This record gives sequence, C-alpha cells and structure tokens, in this order.
Amino acid sequence: MHDAAQNAGPVDHAGRAARFVANADQTTWHDSVLWRIREKRDAVSEGVQGWERLRDLASQIKEHTLSKLDEYLIEFEKCAAANGVQVHWASDAEAHNRIVYDLLEARDVRRVVKSKSMLTEECGLNPYLEARGLEVVDTDLGERIVQLRGEPPSHLVAPAIHVRREEISVLFHEELGTPAGSSDPQFLAGAMRQDLRARFLAADAAITGVNFAVASTGGLVVVTNEGNANLGAHLAPVHIACMGIEKLIPKPEHLGVFLRLLSRSATGQPLSIYTSHFHRPAPGRELHIVLVDNGRTRHLAREDFRASLKCIRCGACLNTCPVYRRSGGHSYGATPSGPIGAILAPGRDMEKYATLPFASSLCGSCSDVCPVKIDIHAQLYRWRQEAAREGHISRGKRLGMNMAGWITRRPARYRLAGRLARSLLRYAPRRLLYGRWNVWGRARDIPEPPARSFGEWYAAERGKK
Ligand code: SF4
Repeated sequence: MHDAAQNAGPVDHAGRAARFVANADQTTWHDSVLWRIREKRDAVSEGVQGWERLRDLASQIKEHTLSKLDEYLIEFEKCAAANGVQVHWASDAEAHNRIVYDLLEARDVRRVVKSKSMLTEECGLNPYLEARGLEVVDTDLGERIVQLRGEPPSHLVAPAIHVRREEISVLFHEELGTPAGSSDPQFLAGAMRQDLRARFLAADAAITGVNFAVASTGGLVVVTNEGNANLGAHLAPVHIACMGIEKLIPKPEHLGVFLRLLSRSATGQPLSIYTSHFHRPAPGRELHIVLVDNGRTRHLAREDFRASLKCIRCGACLNTCPVYRRSGGHSYGATPSGPIGAILAPGRDMEKYATLPFASSLCGSCSDVCPVKIDIHAQLYRWRQEAAREGHISRGKRLGMNMAGWITRRPARYRLAGRLARSLLRYAPRRLLYGRWNVWGRARDIPEPPARSFGEWYAAERGKK
C-alpha cells in the first residue's frame, strides 16, 4: 500500500508535525489559506436554505445505503453490466492494482493519464504500475505538482496546498522549462496545460476516481474543477474507473443532495466546474469499473466506527481542524490525512496509525462542518480508547493516566496533589520544570499557579454574603 511506502514503521505524528511547525512562516501561511476556505464554505452554505436539513438528508441516504450495501452493489453491477461496462471486484489494494495492471498489460498500454483518485493513492497504484514499466501521469494540477515533487498529496481536495507559488516556479522551471523566476499562477497553469495536453493525446488509457456511483442506473459521477477526468476518459480508448464500495448511492435523484453539499463544503463553490456522468463506453471503446473493498467491509462491521464510510471526501474537516492546519497533511503519513484519515487509518492498521486519533484537540469543529454528519470527534475519542486497550500508547502516558485516575478517585488525594503541584510550580527550579519530560512546555510557558485552589476559594467565600 502507498501508506506503507510513505513510512514503514508506526507513524510518529507529533514528530512529523514538529518538523512542519519548525518552519513558522509556512505554518502560519498554511493555517490561514485553509481557514479562508473554511470561511468561504461558511458563507456559501449560509446562502442555502435548509442547509442543515440537507446535511441530515445526506447522512440518512448514506446510512441507508450502507445498511443495504450488499444489495445495492449487486444492483449496481447488474445495471452497469447491462450498459456494457465491465465490472471487476477487488478485495484489497493488491488485488486492485493487479486488476488494473492486467487490464493495461492485456491491451499493450504504455502511457496512462490519471485524474485525482484518493483510492488509487490508498492502494499505491502509481508506484505499482511504474515498477512494471508504465508511464503514469497525474493530470490534476495539484496532483501533478506533488507527483513531480515525488510526494504524496497532503490534502483531499487540494493535494499541493502545502507548496508555495515560489516553489512551484522552481519546479516548473526544472521540469517544464518555464523561465526562471516566473511565478504568475496563470502563466504556470498555462505551462502545465500545454505539457499535459500532449500527454492526454498520447495516452493509451485513462484512469479516474469516482465521486458517486448510482445503483439503479449503473452510472458513475466524477467531479473535477479542471475537466481533466473528462478529457482523459474521452480521448483514450480505455477508461478504468476505480472506486471504493462505499461510493454508492441508490438513485439518481439522490445526486442533487450530494452535489449541492460537496463543492460548497470542499471549496466554498456553489458547484464544481465539471460534473461528468459516465454510463456506457463510447462505440469501439472500453469502460471498466473496479469496485474495491480494502478493509471497508471490515469497517462496516464496526458499529462504533462505520459512520466514517459515509464520507464524500470533501476535505471540510481538514480545512477546519486546528491540528491539521498547523501540522500539514504529510504529518499523518496516511491517505487520506486530517481528521477523516485519523478515524479511517487505525481501522486499516492500528499498529501503524495509533498516534493519529491523538492528533486532535477534540474541539468537534470537524463534526460541525461535515456535510454527511459523521461524528468525527466522537470517533477520534473512541479510537483513543481502542489504542489504549490494545497497548498502543506510550509507557509514560499510561503511567500518567493511571496516576491521574488514582489521584482523582479520592477528594483528599486530589486536594493534596493540587497543593503539591502548586508548590512545585512555584518553587522548583525552571531546569526541572522544563526538562525533557515536559513536552507541553517545549513551546509554551507554564501558567502562574494560583495562590489557592478553586475549592479553597469557594470554601472561604461561601458564607461571606
Ligand atoms: S469526514 Fe465529512 S468533512 Fe471530512 S472529508 Fe469526509 S465528508 Fe468531508
């Protein structure tokens, strides 16, 4: 899996985040860019009458679909096949990659254009195909930027959000031959358009993701702002669409609910520029759909966590999350990153991703903006409990938590501990207070201890009036 390629051992989110925040300018800028998107989302959603009812409806449609996923999948397969689409089933990432490769190999494909697909990132499709001699070109501008940089995407919707314009200027100068120092966004986008146009024309096959698949029609919907999915799929003789099995919705009329929510939540746009519907292959062409499980049915069986499968990958929870905005997508070492990644990744591999549920302030902002009302912060909390139960938290933290439990169990102990802590904070030498053990104090000053506890204050003040 691509996640594995990103980092072999357990992901040290805090360590990775520390490297990101070491660049204070980048952190401030990343934080403010994402917050602006969140503000746009707020402004545009306030203009939609019944926005909350729309969110409720979307949540209910997804819950219903997940409760009958087996039936809807079979209905989808039947309808798609009747339309002339070839449907393939992949139980995991390896099976998905093999199916795609076999299809390409059998048709002697050498050059592939690919539009944005988090599923193919999750499965590590690019490195798999490249290792077998195929040229794979990501055609979404942001995806292409991170591909040229040799990095995974850092955001669901804006894969290169962590890269500054000046860095793109240098990259394009080296890779596309643009004049040194040219950093005008329109010029740079135009240069990439020229470069990609030739690649589209030369491609033997196109791979796309899928935003929604409609069970009753067997149709697919792909949403982009650049039209790259359409161009690839319409020019190449073979179109392979890769989708997680949770992308289904029952009927075409349900699309209106999700399309109104998706781009408003993602970027603050009323609608994405291109909403493309694929139903059948054009004459003489091929359309394949690969339906991928890769742990999704296992996740469906987890009552406490299955709601995360409602996700429509809008990225709103990333934009609003104070931890994501200040630690960057790469600190999660998973696809997707951010709050949704932090509740999906431990289900795939707890050993590796046990730190991710702790990458949150549990403020609940993610759940507040989620268009399908996933209880993200509650799931983060429950994953922490799972991580602790399975022994994935550090010895120091376990000791601290056990001690806190022991102290708070008896009021007398709690009062005594409070007194000791206040004295320690007041009289202990700074060297001791800010030793290596004090992770919190590395970037902050410990507040002045109060002269007395709230309990002592209350006891003294009660009866005064
Ligand atoms: S969890 Fe909700 S807010 Fe986050 S990406 Fe998925 S749909 Fe969007």
